[in-house]
Parts: sequence; C-alpha cells; structure tokens
Amino acid sequence: MIRDGRSIKLSDSLYPTHSYGGAPILIKDSSLFPLWKKVQDGQRLTFEEGLVLFSTDDILGLGHMANWVKEKKTGNHGFFVVNRQINPTNICVLSCRFCDFAKKKTDPAATVMSDDAIVAACSPELTEVHIVSGLYSGWRFDQYLNVIHLIKANYPHIQVKAYTAVEIEFFARIEKISIKEVLEKMKAAGVVCIPGGGAEVFSERVRKALFPFKIGARTWLDVHRTAHSIGLKSNATLLYGHMETVEERVTHMLKLRELQDETHGFLSFIPLAYQPGTTKVVERPASALDDLKTTAVSRLLLDNFVHIKAYWVTMGEQMASVALHFGADDIDGTIGEEKIMHAARASSPVAMARERMVSLIREAGRHPIERDALYNVVASYDEADRVAVIP
Ligand code: SF4
Repeated sequence: MIRDGRSIKLSDSLYPTHSYGGAPILIKDSSLFPLWKKVQDGQRLTFEEGLVLFSTDDILGLGHMANWVKEKKTGNHGFFVVNRQINPTNICVLSCRFCDFAKKKTDPAATVMSDDAIVAACSPELTEVHIVSGLYSGWRFDQYLNVIHLIKANYPHIQVKAYTAVEIEFFARIEKISIKEVLEKMKAAGVVCIPGGGAEVFSERVRKALFPFKIGARTWLDVHRTAHSIGLKSNATLLYGHMETVEERVTHMLKLRELQDETHGFLSFIPLAYQPGTTKVVERPASALDDLKTTAVSRLLLDNFVHIKAYWVTMGEQMASVALHFGADDIDGTIGEEKIMHAARASSPVAMARERMVSLIREAGRHPIERDALYNVVASYDEADRVAVIP
C-alpha cells in the first residue's frame, strides 16, 4: 500500500486491522470498532449495538467479524444433512397474509398425503425427515402422530423433526390437552427435535397485520421452552424482508438469545428471507446484501447459538455458499421436495443431491460435514469429496 509516496504496512493504514488466522481484518466503519473489540473480548452485544450492525454499509467488515466468531465456534466446517421435507397436508384453517402454501379444503390444489404416499416419500438413505403441515381441522392429533409412526415403523433409523410451535399449539387446542402433553406424545412417537418455523418476527404490530390469528411471540417461546424442558431440542427462525423493521429483527434475536440462556435447547438459528410469491406483501425479496447482513448480525448477536444456517431454498445456492463466510456454518439439507417456499416460487431447485451440497460447501472453501438432525457427525468429506470418516 502506498500513502504520501511512501510504502506503509497495512497495520499503518487509516483503518484498524486485526490478526485473523494470520491475515489482517480490515474494518472501515468506525462505528464497528468498539463492537469488534467487545466481540473479541467475548462480551455480549446490546440491542443498540444490534442496530449499529444493521445500519453499517461496511458489509465486508461486518462479514469478517461474523466469520471470526463462526470460525471460533465451528472452525472451517460447513454442515449439511441428507433430509427430506414432508408436508402431510397443505389445508389450513388460517389464512396468514404472507403464506403461499396454505389452501382451503375446496381448492383444487389442496392435498392430503395418504399413508402410502408418506412412506413412499422416505427412502433408506435419508438421515432426517422434516415434517411441517397446515392446520387441518379434518384431522385429529392422532393422525398427525400417525405420520411419525409410519416413518419410524418403516425406517427406524430416520430422525423425525416435527412439528412447528404453531401446529403444536393447534394440536393442544383440538385435543384439549396441554402443550407439554402434546410434546410428550410426539417424543414418544419418535420425534427427536422440533423445527423453528412459525416464529415469523416477534412483533405484535406485524402479527396484527400479517398473521392475526396465529400464535405470537409468547406462545411460540413457551412451546419451545416446554420442548426443551422435556429434553427435546429445537430450532429457531426469523422471517425477514417483508414489513418488519430492523428494531423488530433485533428484538426477535434478543428474545431467542434470552431463552437460549435459560434452556440451552436451541440447535440452530435460521434467518428466512420472505418470498413474495403471489402474496406480495412487498414486491421484491430481500436483497443479497440484506441476506448476508442478516446472517452476519445473527451470528454476532446470538452468541449462545452454535449453528447459524444459510437456508439455500430461500437464499439460493450461490448466496448460501457465500454466507458460509458471513457467519453461517450450515446450508441445511438436501430437502427432497420442498413445497412451502417452492409454492412461493423460490428460485432454487426443488431437489438437491448430496453431491451438490458437498460441492457448494467445498466451493466456499469449507470442509463439508454431513450431520444428523442433532448435529452428530455422519460423515466428513476429504478434498476429493470422498467420505473420509464415518464415526
Ligand atoms: S403460515 Fe402456517 S398457519 Fe398461516 S396460513 Fe400458512 S400454513 Fe396456515
């Protein structure tokens, strides 16, 4: 670097640099300096500091900070799971304004999977099945449990991740039992963890506008707290890029951080970009920069979460790969047939082979680790993408 006709070291430059695996980190935005110091010292960032992170234009500086934390937590690993999503029915009693998935019973596109179709959707090579459904009043809780029984009876090795907090609260109401009893029955049927969907954004303002009849933050958090109390792990999401403010995004993340402090039951956080589809709450999806920024901010604020996902279905394969350098350490799964986001016309392919997941992680310069639903290692891939280790 040349300044005033003399050669200077990078560390003499206008911006502070920091040792980072032998290479300097360049942060240009001075408002990030004190935050970077706190991050390095292992201190927790505040709500106001979360807003500073979202307001910076120094996306590379932010990414470096998030990547530093990611590498401290999970090294150079990039995780994925061989899974399939099953949506037993898309019939739903609610009509959330942002939802492209739900159908009414009389809609020609309404579907209810038969037992045979559920079993046929599974295959021996799957590690995880992720079940998310509509709130279908034509089914009793037993029929939802039957989906789990069918999978476990035919493929005992497959780990079942089911259902969202929204569905669990619905089961409790239709069955007139407590949320804890619902969760205990699900666990007894073979569920190992619950997905993070249905959280949307923890804001009464947004709930009233977009999903007024669906559970809000308190119930969502209570369901997850109860799941953790009976030994079920869970995941957490944020739906962003619609009408929420950055203050609401930060509030959402801090509520999750608070519950994680209390229970340590969350496995991962998944920022989900809203897909406009036909619902058009906003015309365009979040920008690529917003995807990266939201990923990085979540990594920095959620200091008690080990795993942050770059969900390729909403983000796209290429951005998910890039996000592995902005704080994410996981690109989720092979998915199989993903209907919810696909109904909203996500541009990603419906199916993604294991090999594609490995190569996406490899292209990002990360070491591909195939995991199960609970983040146990299934396989580690060497540089030729051969399975090197199966513990
Ligand atoms: S978001 Fe969930 S609860 Fe709301 S309409 Fe869609 S499927 Fe039903």
